[in-house]
Amino acid sequence: MAAQIEMDGTDANTVVTETTCGICLEEPRDPLNLPCGHSFCDGCLNEWRSRYGVEEEMRRKCPICRATIPPSKEMVSTLLTCRAAKLKLEDYGETSSEQYHDVCRDLAQVEELVGADWDGVTVLEDDRQPAVVMPDYIHNAALRGAIKSVLKWISANHTEDRVNAISGPERMCMPILFIATMNNHLMLMTLLLQLGADADLRNSNGVTTLGILFSDMKGSAAFLRRGNGANLKLANLLDSEFGGRRCEIVNHSSRPELNGKTCINDEYLPDSNQYKVTLETKSKEVLVLGPDNLKRRDRTPQDCGYYIEFKNGRTIRHDFDSNEDCQAFVAALNNGETQPAVTEEAEAAAELAAAELLAELGLDDSPSVPSSGCKAKKSKKKKKGGKKKRK
Ligand SMILES: [Zn+2]
Ligand SMILES: [Zn+2]
Repeated sequence: MAAQIEMDGTDANTVVTETTCGICLEEPRDPLNLPCGHSFCDGCLNEWRSRYGVEEEMRRKCPICRATIPPSKEMVSTLLTCRAAKLKLEDYGETSSEQYHDVCRDLAQVEELVGADWDGVTVLEDDRQPAVVMPDYIHNAALRGAIKSVLKWISANHTEDRVNAISGPERMCMPILFIATMNNHLMLMTLLLQLGADADLRNSNGVTTLGILFSDMKGSAAFLRRGNGANLKLANLLDSEFGGRRCEIVNHSSRPELNGKTCINDEYLPDSNQYKVTLETKSKEVLVLGPDNLKRRDRTPQDCGYYIEFKNGRTIRHDFDSNEDCQAFVAALNNGETQPAVTEEAEAAAELAAAELLAELGLDDSPSVPSSGCKAKKSKKKKKGGKKKRK
């Protein structure tokens, strides 16, 4: 009897501690740890279901012990999004619209997935940290590309990972970067990435930020060129052979001082199998380099190459002579130290460049503050601001 109990105990523990996938018997990839104690790779479970033509009813049961599998966070979020959308349309009396018809169809589909026997509470756990949920007004600010409001909210609490906050479940759990990307707010996107926004996060439909950028509608350069909000910079990037990839220069024998410096690939030269690149330094020197001299080096918040600062309602681009300078600048900013020595001349040049970039992109955080203009105009601006009532 005692042995029996011990065996049962060991058995249950083995399932939890070994964490092998019950299907492929290896360490689970993207593990799904079911409340019954059984674990599966996400992929294995889905393949098993499709291979054996598992019916909807049985899809919600563990393949080993038949215990009920609660719905995933994504399923629940989609359910809530559809319900909220349906209610809203009913409130507006648009129950005969095509949109309403679509929402009802989507809702029926997700209700089927979740199952009528769901207790309305239990959600399948995963190993991801639960994200901070942003308030609705921040969701709306990100939609508008209102840099100031978004950054202010993010920096108001450093104990939370607010840069990776998501909207509420009834708004599809979209990360801030996702919302900014959806609406082509390039400058806000850059600022969020500098702060460590994760481009791999998914909304409740499982779409990542890169996914939305390259989805049918947005991913076409033609789409980006259209209309008033045309994003030519992004369109050119998507059209270019090397997609604006950032690289480090390596093994340059005739000019060894360039090794370790970073550059942006502008153009592939097929005849010579070389790349035309622009150095990521203040000099912006243009070079032609072979593939052996280029090594991929993606930007990170600590190693960003250039830095966009948001100050006094405007964005200022800082370029540096070397990556070390850039890293030191970022580190000092993060430590809350006072601004590292940036000469006034450099700052003026940076501001001018930023203003030009903004004008070129047609980006402007708030319409009440002119995006162009330098220090000399500040007094004028103050007068203007004085007339306006603050909201
Ligand atoms: Zn597996
Ligand atoms: Zn089980």
